[in-house]
Amino acid sequence: MLVMAMSDAGSTQSTDLLEVYRLRKWFRAKRSILEVLQGRDEHVVKAVDGVSFTVKQGSTFVLAGESGSGKSTIARLILRAIEPDDGRIVFAGRDVLSLDKAGMRWFRRNAQMIHQDPYSSLNPRMRVISIVGEPLEVHGVGKVEREEMVLRALQEVRLEPVEEIAYRYPHMLSGGQRQRVAIARALVLKPMLIVADEPVSMLDLSVRAEILELMQSLKVRHNITYIYITHDLSTARYFGDTIAILYRGRIVEMGSIDDVLHDPLHPYTQALIDAIPEPDPSSRLREKVIRIRSHPGEEVDDRGCRFYARCPYAMDVCRDEPALVEVKKGHHVSCFLYK
Ligand code: SF4
Repeated sequence: MLVMAMSDAGSTQSTDLLEVYRLRKWFRAKRSILEVLQGRDEHVVKAVDGVSFTVKQGSTFVLAGESGSGKSTIARLILRAIEPDDGRIVFAGRDVLSLDKAGMRWFRRNAQMIHQDPYSSLNPRMRVISIVGEPLEVHGVGKVEREEMVLRALQEVRLEPVEEIAYRYPHMLSGGQRQRVAIARALVLKPMLIVADEPVSMLDLSVRAEILELMQSLKVRHNITYIYITHDLSTARYFGDTIAILYRGRIVEMGSIDDVLHDPLHPYTQALIDAIPEPDPSSRLREKVIRIRSHPGEEVDDRGCRFYARCPYAMDVCRDEPALVEVKKGHHVSCFLYK
């Protein structure tokens, strides 16, 4: 049903780079000795629970939500850092979960990641030239060509003077420069997809806009597709084309950035927007704001709406699971307020 809805929204097979269908990943938490003695059931964390979406080539798809919503787990599943319990991932027309060894080499070359922390994601014992060149070495690119490609990548991310930066160690660089190195490392293989997991959240405010502007210009120049993971809707608004809002492992709202951020439908999205620092109090982003419960009320089990305990509009019907349905063209929401 969801897949139908997304097709209706205008996604065409020819322009979709990534298709994710009913992805599921549950983690089983270990029980304490006391819980075992008390005969309590195994605790299951439904980190990702039936998530479907498509990402068009050359666009930025934002996965947004608070900590624990499942957004980083989805990224790790897409990149096959962990295996899903169920679901399907199609990348450039190929089923990622059934790729053979050669297929995985192709996939790893074309799907790269930028991590959140530029301080721990770079090996402190390697010079920049080796850090950025490492993926090329793994893929068998020779030394001379490798060095040329690294220097070009450093130029692309505006790390000047290139010859000097290339021989520095990470501790000799600022946070912004380190994240530029991380971007160069992701870029050097000329991937089709880059998954950026909160790439600016650990940087100074003054540097964030520069890094996002750089990523945006690289996207246009190289037709890169991004999955941008964030809890910060103000950067999503600047950087994204489409967005999925996640809550406890499920998508609760999805659509274009403009539709979702200027006309939020789900109470959780409305609350997230309420939390965006907004210098202009009359902004359109302020038109629909609600207060969610900071002290959750009665929980419902995972068969119902997972936002039930915090939702000011919760009704009896919300004890069932609301489907993600298209309520306006291309704008999907999972909430019984929009039956
Ligand atoms: Fe609130 Fe019910 Fe909508 Fe869930 S389905 S967000 S509990 S109104």
